[in-house]
Amino acid sequence: MHIIISGAGLAGSLMAIYLAKRGWKVDIYESRVDMRKTTISAGRSINLALSSRGIKTLHEVGLENEILKGSVKMPGRMVHDKAGNTVFAPYGRDNSEYINSISRGDLNKILMTAAEQYENVNIYFRHEVLNVDFDNKSMVLKDAESGAVYTVKADLIIGADGANSAIRRSMEKQMPGYISNIAWLDHGYKELSIPPADGGGFRIATDVLHIWPRASFMLIALPNFDGSFTCTLFYANEGAESFASMDTFEKFKTFMQNEFPNALPHMLDIEEEYHNNPVGKLGTLKCYPWRIGASAVLVGDAAHALVPFYGQGMNASFEDCRILNECIDKYGSDWDKILSEYEALRKVNGDAIGDLAVENFYEMRDKVADPVFQLKRKLEHLIENNYPDYRSKYALVTFSPEVSYSYAKSQGNKQDEYLMKVCATVNSVEELNVDEVYRVLKSL
Ligand SMILES: Cc1cc2nc3c(=O)[nH]c(=O)nc-3n(C[C@H](O)[C@H](O)[C@H](O)COP(=O)(O)OP(=O)(O)OC[C@H]3O[C@@H](n4cnc5c(N)ncnc54)[C@H](O)[C@@H]3O)c2cc1C
Repeated sequence: MHIIISGAGLAGSLMAIYLAKRGWKVDIYESRVDMRKTTISAGRSINLALSSRGIKTLHEVGLENEILKGSVKMPGRMVHDKAGNTVFAPYGRDNSEYINSISRGDLNKILMTAAEQYENVNIYFRHEVLNVDFDNKSMVLKDAESGAVYTVKADLIIGADGANSAIRRSMEKQMPGYISNIAWLDHGYKELSIPPADGGGFRIATDVLHIWPRASFMLIALPNFDGSFTCTLFYANEGAESFASMDTFEKFKTFMQNEFPNALPHMLDIEEEYHNNPVGKLGTLKCYPWRIGASAVLVGDAAHALVPFYGQGMNASFEDCRILNECIDKYGSDWDKILSEYEALRKVNGDAIGDLAVENFYEMRDKVADPVFQLKRKLEHLIENNYPDYRSKYALVTFSPEVSYSYAKSQGNKQDEYLMKVCATVNSVEELNVDEVYRVLKSL
């Protein structure tokens, strides 16, 4: 087999490792420069939350330990109110369940280097895929260095070129009735930072994901291995209170001072970041089909870009690669069957995690500060600890790679609805019969 991949991002590099292990020839074409040789931004969000689904895949390709070495564990979220009071909410049963903050750039570099260790893998940087001829299984490329435009041909094309995928755009153009829809959120994001403390270490509590929820907007901060935090402000794009209305640094600083008074003093580079860091767009992509016969297939954001509120885009992309690999194990060289089963298994789950991520935006922004919601989390935490077979929606998505995203969505939403109803009727968990609540949850 000779396989060509568009994009040496997270999914493309990982997929190349799976394929290279089979001894197949893999050529990856990446439009950007080699980030291991030049200092460039690794793209959106400096750090990412890696959890069980991603780790399961990295374990399979033998990279789990190397990647987790540079991570910071986050066993829960720390919620900050305006007065500076904080509440810690664990993500799982206890501190043994956590998500991992990792550097996007370091992760991508490790994956590219691991792929290139196979002599049957080549990565061609500064090569942009322009379009695809699916009948001939060929791609037209532009080499940015020489300016040359040329065509490559293979047995299979994999589109791992992110939310704005050239492979998907070719599918849209060439396939009558192709469905491709991006639902944009009316909120965007701006990245800010908190540098390490003087002399090293962290300026605010480490080992947590910090959230400052403010009903219609929020700030979050994830720790980095070097002691810094990457902060992300999610705010409306347009309107009276929006990124657009904060058109001077003075307005922005006053807003940050009013809303996040315990975070702002630590943001030492905020003026530069206000001017230099663009406002990013957030959208959910749903498209169909994900493949053209036995010629081409999409993986990762190219098939299902998500909003980042469940921290699952990369985890889902890695899971795509693992499942595609399992389909190859099952069907050998029958590419029609391989791609058809992969698409059937993943499309429904791509849609489910896309919906869950949007739902979690509203949960993080509006609900985490709500007393009924906090009571619900407390009750659920108690149940999770008393009954090992019960898992919250968050745990089903984040810590349970053995269940699908679509199961996590349907089961988790039923559980949440019931628990919120129960918690709205009481002032404390002690007023409830926990055994009875568990019994009803099981019946769901
Ligand atoms: C603010 C933010 C925070 C996030 N946080 C998390 C998180 O905490 N946890 C998580 O799991 N996910 C998170 N995500 C999602 C995650 O970033 C993506 O799901 C992940 O990067 C998808 O990987 P990918 O390889 O499919 O796409 P990408 O990482 O976008 O890689 C695509 C690659 O293709 C290349 N390319 C594009 N077009 C072409 C072309 N025409 N020719 C050749 N090459 C091309 C690009 O240069 C790039 O290298 C976040 C996303 C955002 C925006």
